Amino acid sequence: MPIATIDPTTGQTVKTFEAYDAAEVRRRLDRAVDAAATLRETPIAQRADWMRAAADIVENDLDRLARMLTQEMGKPITQARAEVHKCVRAMRFEADHVEELLADQPLAEPDAVGASQAWTTWQPLGVVLAVMPWNFALWQVMRFAAPALLAGNAGLLKHASNVPQAALYLDSLFERAGFPPGSFQALLIPSSQVAGLIQDDRIAAVTITGSEPAGRSVAETAGKAIKKSVLELGGSDPFIVMPGVDLDTASSTAVRARVQNNGQSCIAAKRFVVHTDIYDDFVDQFTAKMADLVVGDPMDEATDVGPLATESGRRDLAELVDDATAKGADVLVGGNVGDGPGWFYPPTALAGLTDDMRIVTEEAFGPVAAIYRVSDRDEAVRVANQTSFGLSSAVWSPDADEQAWFVRELDAGAVFVNGMSESSAELPFGGVKASGYGREMGTAGIHEFCNLKAVWKA
Ligand code: NDP
Repeated sequence: MPIATIDPTTGQTVKTFEAYDAAEVRRRLDRAVDAAATLRETPIAQRADWMRAAADIVENDLDRLARMLTQEMGKPITQARAEVHKCVRAMRFEADHVEELLADQPLAEPDAVGASQAWTTWQPLGVVLAVMPWNFALWQVMRFAAPALLAGNAGLLKHASNVPQAALYLDSLFERAGFPPGSFQALLIPSSQVAGLIQDDRIAAVTITGSEPAGRSVAETAGKAIKKSVLELGGSDPFIVMPGVDLDTASSTAVRARVQNNGQSCIAAKRFVVHTDIYDDFVDQFTAKMADLVVGDPMDEATDVGPLATESGRRDLAELVDDATAKGADVLVGGNVGDGPGWFYPPTALAGLTDDMRIVTEEAFGPVAAIYRVSDRDEAVRVANQTSFGLSSAVWSPDADEQAWFVRELDAGAVFVNGMSESSAELPFGGVKASGYGREMGTAGIHEFCNLKAVWKA
């Protein structure tokens, strides 16, 4: 894959970038090691001040950054602005809470272990490599970078090859904000070099957000090198609708949950599991709202759905839909790749799905909804849990006992009740099963790349 900005709205290459040579990668690794040593000795309050300064810079750059995100991967400009805002908010949130998140914890009864005092303390690991995707080119990186830097680690970013301008923005951001040189750097390299980096003694740990094959490869290399890894991989999240909820609100939320970011979000709702008693009403409203979406130029303020980020992504999605329709699925709306430039794919809904169709178990990374009719909550959970993924989930039910039952039974890293899955600075984010392991954000996120040191004193 070339390292280049290719505008998905036109298919035209806007700018290409040379990959760094071995000497430049070495130089950046060495700078990262020096920065990690400095950061480790820097008071937390100072790191928090630098993070707040970085947040101010991002906020000032909001319009320019949003346009860059939209040009590089095609998300609607309104959503690009929301992504930048979200980063600013998370950076400030993390900066404001880092002292309490990293506070030492004294053991209440140290004499039980024969000590006069005993406590635990969080220490940084060193240089952490982050392999990141293009779908939220700023937010996905910030979810890692803000807590990791605040904890005193240095970061090296291997960003997706189609978002080099986002990578380079992040490369200079933290130094501009006052962090020591080398605290956070981008590496313009192909993914074939990631394994070698993980094996390098100067790298302490690795995090990846991306596809299952990429995650598998990173985890395998990290496992062999006995290095900490965090994996945020794909998802095929269920959105369950039970009788008794407001179907207008549920269907509008379902549409938003499916098509946000042009349908390219790991926690997008992808499979809609609907109770038979309300199935027809829900599906009528859902498909009508999918058909009403404005598909077009993502720079246009009125656009709901822009192009997919890459040509290969659109091809993969079209193949999933074609496979299902060839095996008898009903196309309720959309389903055809149109003519014209750009990698557009129309909002699509499929029903009448059978287990031999790939879309039943594979992730549809674009605005394609798979709809299931179920007769009770047991069948709803069986369908919801039938993929190998377990990232997030949503359940709509008016009944508190039923809600609690779904919360318990769903195999997922999160359950959103009467709402849609969203990541935030406050809640931990991550999955189970093939969606990966480890957590970002929340209280757990900042601890992933820390050494929890136990201290015992005679
Ligand atoms: P990839 O997993 O291929 O890319 C994500 C990142 O991993 C990129 O930086 C990529 O680099 C890198 N990468 C790719 N292969 C390897 C490897 N073997 N070892 C180390 N790093 C690697 O995602 P795609 O962009 O190809 O998207 C394909 C699918 O991935 C989607 O359909 C979706 O299922 C999933 N995905 C999930 C995301 C999520 O948020 N969980 C985000 C994006 C994708 P490079 O760009 O240079 O190849």
